[in-house]
Amino acid sequence: MASERKPMMAANWKMNKTVREAEDYVAKLLPRVSDATDEVDVAVFAPFTSLPTVGRMTQDAAVIAGAQNLYFEDSGAYTGEVSAPMLKDVGTGAVIVGHSERREIFGETDETVARKAAKALEAGLVPIVCVGETKEERDAGGMWDKVSGQVRAVMEALDGPSGDAVVFAYEPIWAIGTGETASPEDAQEAIGQIRGLLGELGGEEFAGSVRILYGGSIKPSNAADIMAQDDVDGGLVGGASLEAESFVELVEAAR
Ligand code: PGA
Repeated sequence: MASERKPMMAANWKMNKTVREAEDYVAKLLPRVSDATDEVDVAVFAPFTSLPTVGRMTQDAAVIAGAQNLYFEDSGAYTGEVSAPMLKDVGTGAVIVGHSERREIFGETDETVARKAAKALEAGLVPIVCVGETKEERDAGGMWDKVSGQVRAVMEALDGPSGDAVVFAYEPIWAIGTGETASPEDAQEAIGQIRGLLGELGGEEFAGSVRILYGGSIKPSNAADIMAQDDVDGGLVGGASLEAESFVELVEAAR
């Protein structure tokens, strides 16, 4: 981790936790990370149903309440969707866009992901833009084609963002929920390449200040080695974030 960028540790609950479970989790988390938040941005990405609870409980704490998705229009006839102003209204500070599960299961394209990232930014929400390749793409030597295309599509839609307004997350799809983590060297290589591309597209100052997280089977036993890589600025964590105790360990590993 480079010293000038503040690391971020992000819990992605995915489709888990009732309101009551969310309350219990946040009540456990807050006192245990209060010392760490000066050094690490701690974010909890909750489902829409428990997000107002997380937003309310984190209101006076330095923990960020995050959403897992949004739509790129502000209001209207879009049954089932949730907009940026609605997220702001319940205390949301950040939103995941383009998670591979959204791309693969719900058919989100580079274009919709880019529009969502632009909308989040415009609304003052920090988009956590996810990119990553499948196993087949990696084995066929197509990792960089895929990832660079995803990064380019988003950067084209953003109007010269500042480095603290947007976060990228490199999440190789073969490492998500599989227990198979990218090696620290693989994570560094991919994230270093992404930072290089962000320099070409957004300028050196942007590339030097934008945070790029790693995601994919991070757990307490492997987090420290991954976080120690120069270009890795934190983690986006699914499975190992579901218990507050284990997420606290990951926050500690990012300090
Ligand atoms: P995982 O999920 O930590 O369970 O692999 C990460 C993610 O999908 O954000």
